[in-house]
Amino acid sequence: MEDRSQTRRDFMKMMSMGAMAALSLGSLSCTRAQVEAFLQKHFREMTEAEKKEAIRRLEETYFRKYGKKFHISTQPADTAVLWGYGLDLSRCIGCRRCVYACVKENNQSRSNPQLQWIRVVRLKDGSLINLENTEHYYNPEKVPEPGFQYMPVQCQHCENPPCVRVCPVHATWKEPDGIVVVDYNWCIGCRYCMAACPYKGRVFNWGQPNIPPEELNTEVHYLGNRPRMKNVVEKCTFCIQRVRNGRYPACVEACPTGARKFGNLLDPDSEIRYIIENKRVFRLKEDLNTEPKFYYFFSA
Ligand code: SF4
Ligand code: SF4
Repeated sequence: MEDRSQTRRDFMKMMSMGAMAALSLGSLSCTRAQVEAFLQKHFREMTEAEKKEAIRRLEETYFRKYGKKFHISTQPADTAVLWGYGLDLSRCIGCRRCVYACVKENNQSRSNPQLQWIRVVRLKDGSLINLENTEHYYNPEKVPEPGFQYMPVQCQHCENPPCVRVCPVHATWKEPDGIVVVDYNWCIGCRYCMAACPYKGRVFNWGQPNIPPEELNTEVHYLGNRPRMKNVVEKCTFCIQRVRNGRYPACVEACPTGARKFGNLLDPDSEIRYIIENKRVFRLKEDLNTEPKFYYFFSA
C-alpha cells in the first residue's frame, strides 16, 4: 500500500512553504490510486457514496498488495450503546494471551518491532499505587510469579481524551459509542497524540508494518484493524470490527481466567454495570479528569 502519510506530510510542507505551484501531478509522479487516496476527504465528512468509493479503492489496493479479498466495514456506532471495559486484577495472571490475541486480530506489525496495543505491567505485591515503577519486559518461566501482580494497560477510551484535543488535523476523535478512533488516511504522523496520552495508549509505525500473509485478518473496519501504513499512529479500538457486530473483543475472548469484562454502560442489566455498582472499582490517573471507560477492580 502506498505510504500516504508521507505524501500528506509532504503536501503540508509544501503548503507551508507557499509552494502550491509545485503540486502538479506530473512532478509528484503518483499513481492514479495514490492521487485519489490523497484527495480523499476526512472519513467523518464523507457522504455514503464517497465512503463506498473509498472502500472500493482500498479493497482493490489491499488485493493488489496482499493477494487477498478484504471486507472493510464502515458500520457506524449504535447510539444506544456506550462501551465500557472491566479488568479484574485479582484474576490477571500476566500470561499476555490477551496481547497476542490482540496483535493477531488487529493486524499489528509482527516484527522489528512487533507493535502491541496492550502492555501488561508487573508490580510487586502491595505497590499498586506506584505505577511509575512498573516493568513490562518481565519474562519468567511460569506465571503468575509469587510476590507479583499484573496490570494490563491499553487505550482507556477516555470520555475526555487529551489525544483528541491535540491532534492538529482532527485525525482522531471519539465516536458516539465512546470508542476513540484514528483515521489512518488522515493521520500525518506528528505524534502529538502519543505525547498527550497519559496512559501510553498509542504506538507509532516507524517502519512499514509486516504481517505474514497467512495470518492476515481480512474482516476489518475502516476505523479499526485494516492494515496500516508506515508513519501512522495506532491503538486499541475495543475491537470496533467485532463489538459493533455483537462479538466480544479478542482480548476478552482470549483471557484464560475471565479477568476481562466488556459491555454496554447504558444497559442497567449489563455485567459491566453490575461491576461498577457492586465492586470497588478504580480508574487510572483519575486526577487528570480524562474519565477513562476502563474500570479496574478486585473480585477476590
Ligand atoms: S487512553 Fe490515551 S489514547 Fe486512549 S483515549 Fe485516553 S488519551 Fe486517548
Ligand atoms: S479490545 Fe481489541 S483492540 Fe483493544 S486491546 Fe482488546 S483485542 Fe486489542
